[in-house]
Amino acid sequence: MQYDSLKSEDSKISFATVYNSLEFLVSNGYVKKLDLDCDSARFDALLENHSHLVCNRCGEVIDVPAMAVPESDFLQKFDFTPEEISITIRGICRHCRSN
Ligand SMILES: [Zn+2]
Repeated sequence: MQYDSLKSEDSKISFATVYNSLEFLVSNGYVKKLDLDCDSARFDALLENHSHLVCNRCGEVIDVPAMAVPESDFLQKFDFTPEEISITIRGICRHCRSN
């Protein structure tokens, strides 16, 4: 009984430790936290500018080379200087489509 409660307490601590370590890596620029608007936080070790394809069914995230911004005219129109551009395309991956 006591062992079980200790054990579950331990896994809580390890999860928090892992999460805090990830946050540390993010704040120091080693990994990037993805702003994908899903229930769980995702972290990206690929820091080069790139885009994401996200499967709506299985949640797979595929890294692809940075895509051009389709409406880049707006940057000029609003005299806006982009510091980070993230393009996420949501859809159905080939595995889910063939099932
Ligand atoms: Zn899928």
